[in-house]
Amino acid sequence: MKSAAAIALLSIFVICGSVLGQQAPTTAPAITPVTLQALPFALDQVKLLDSPFKQAQERDQAYLLSLDPDRLLHTFRLNVGLPSTAEPLGGWEAPTVELRGHFTGHYLSACALMYRSTGDPALKSRTDYLVAELAKCQEASTKAGFHAGYLSAFPESLFDRVDKGQKVWAPWYTMHKIMAGLLDVHLQTGNPQALAVLTKLADWVTFRVDRLTPQQMQASLKNEQGGMTEVLANLAAVTNDAQYLRIAEAFNHHAVIDPLAQGQDKLDRLHANTQIPKIIGAAREYELTGNPDYHQIASFFWTEVALHRSYVFGGDSDREHFFAMTDWAKHLSVATAETCNTYNMLKLTRHLFEWEPSTTLMDFYERALYNQILGSQEPDKGMMTYFISTQPGHFKTYMTPLDSFWCCSGTGVENHAKYGDTIYFHDADSLYVNLFIPSELTWKERGLIVRQETNFPEDGAVGLTLHCEHPVTLALKIRYPGWASADMTVQIDGQNIPVTDHPGSYITLQREWHDGDRIQIMLPMNLHIETLPNTPNQIAVMDGPIVLAGNFGGDKIENDYAKDQLDFAKVSDPPVPVFVGEPADILNHITAVPGKPLTFITNGLAQPNDVTLIPLFQIQHERYTIYWRSYSPDQWQEHNSAPATRPTNLLHANDVKSQ
Ligand SMILES: [Zn+2]
Repeated sequence: MKSAAAIALLSIFVICGSVLGQQAPTTAPAITPVTLQALPFALDQVKLLDSPFKQAQERDQAYLLSLDPDRLLHTFRLNVGLPSTAEPLGGWEAPTVELRGHFTGHYLSACALMYRSTGDPALKSRTDYLVAELAKCQEASTKAGFHAGYLSAFPESLFDRVDKGQKVWAPWYTMHKIMAGLLDVHLQTGNPQALAVLTKLADWVTFRVDRLTPQQMQASLKNEQGGMTEVLANLAAVTNDAQYLRIAEAFNHHAVIDPLAQGQDKLDRLHANTQIPKIIGAAREYELTGNPDYHQIASFFWTEVALHRSYVFGGDSDREHFFAMTDWAKHLSVATAETCNTYNMLKLTRHLFEWEPSTTLMDFYERALYNQILGSQEPDKGMMTYFISTQPGHFKTYMTPLDSFWCCSGTGVENHAKYGDTIYFHDADSLYVNLFIPSELTWKERGLIVRQETNFPEDGAVGLTLHCEHPVTLALKIRYPGWASADMTVQIDGQNIPVTDHPGSYITLQREWHDGDRIQIMLPMNLHIETLPNTPNQIAVMDGPIVLAGNFGGDKIENDYAKDQLDFAKVSDPPVPVFVGEPADILNHITAVPGKPLTFITNGLAQPNDVTLIPLFQIQHERYTIYWRSYSPDQWQEHNSAPATRPTNLLHANDVKSQ
């Protein structure tokens, strides 16, 4: 989400003439869905078993239920003149903030997803109540002076400001959250009223869009519009009404997607999370039309961002913007890797996987899921991050329960409600085991239950037990991760199975499976190093897919819950050690701590003192370092004999930033 401060810096653009000009084409494209190669399971088919993911889900569930729905409805009611005595929420939901209402949309999505994941009826009651009350607000909209079907917590005049190129935060972005929330409630809980409200709202969107010429529409898209394309395409698929696909395409921002269709990366300096939802929209348009341009836009963008523009933990952007790929060393800051970006990149990854399953996609998914998403929620209150700081020695900053309501609070409550959505995928005859997360899959159509038990990533052992009333013929496709450096081993019922596949592929076990069959996998975890892209002297340490961060324990942060995501950006950070060693020898100086899984210490490597490394996702309320400045012994000697500009041997965080 583009912050309010960033909006203030935008140059104002003006559309000449009336906004009621030549209309957009009214011919709807045909809905001709492409055949998907792999499909996800519904969330109620995958139950999480005990693991850090299950614990994160439970904390998220508790937070969702702690929020008062009447407070979430307060500004919606006031907007149409309905009474409300609820106490207003704070942060980006405060009654004067132009983004108000966005979190209520996310809340609908999160409660719907969480209900499907857990079956907790309290969550369905929440969504039923909210939808019924929002329907009353929608009914009151014309009396309040808005056009029919309008539903928002702020006046419709904010959309006029978008159309006229006037300064305004992001009305379409907010509208997308409300529409996506209604659709999620319909799809995940079966609430028909949610679809009825959404359809009326989408008809209002159609009315607004059809008042503009295509040129005026394109000019208006300079304002952040979130996933309007995606939700309208989804609605077209659900209702089989191609008019919504036409309006979805009207939201295609050609200045951004056309270069991508040509294989051109012109993403430098663009606001990252304004763009990613546009690409998810293109992915849905491909799925509904088969237009190869949309395929190219989505797959090229994914490759650029996931493989070339992401930090080691799967996040991207600095101060919310993409930057030149030659400039990585300048971008270890407190404001890197907005969590919304990663939420959206994971969504995009799932689309690409449906088109052509690959471990490249799932390796990225796993990396971003463990290192950023799982680690974005702290254990004490279940609060979540906006950024993941990469500034050496800094810390994670979390939202407050009632006074932040950032964009990342919204995507945050969704993140931890849907961990079951990607562990398994399937086609008619295959079951993909993508992620090694304790869980139980019930595949009713095939009469099969698969129970996955593992302590991964604490160790590499994964057990799958199959339960079926009748034998099932099926290809079990188990991800052989690209990070595996040694042989992955597979046993079926205690018998070794020869593995001829290589890391970065799926191991296919095709046979007739019987009740009680057990597959035992051993994933070879291995310590390895990844450098900051194009920056060989900044290195990160990984164990398998897990990013290990230096943990500067003992310096607990007293308060890291913030109203504003940058509240602690200027807190000065202590100096952090550097690594001194020949590059090929560094791993020999990092050793596992016996009895402490995923915990390592450096041994004669870090200067001036050795450090403890633990998973980045486990670091909460403590200072940490992901990337280490690395010197060979000769470089270090030279560094220390140079005229002293530093008071000590230590490297200060600010030194890293300025290099
Ligand atoms: Zn965000």
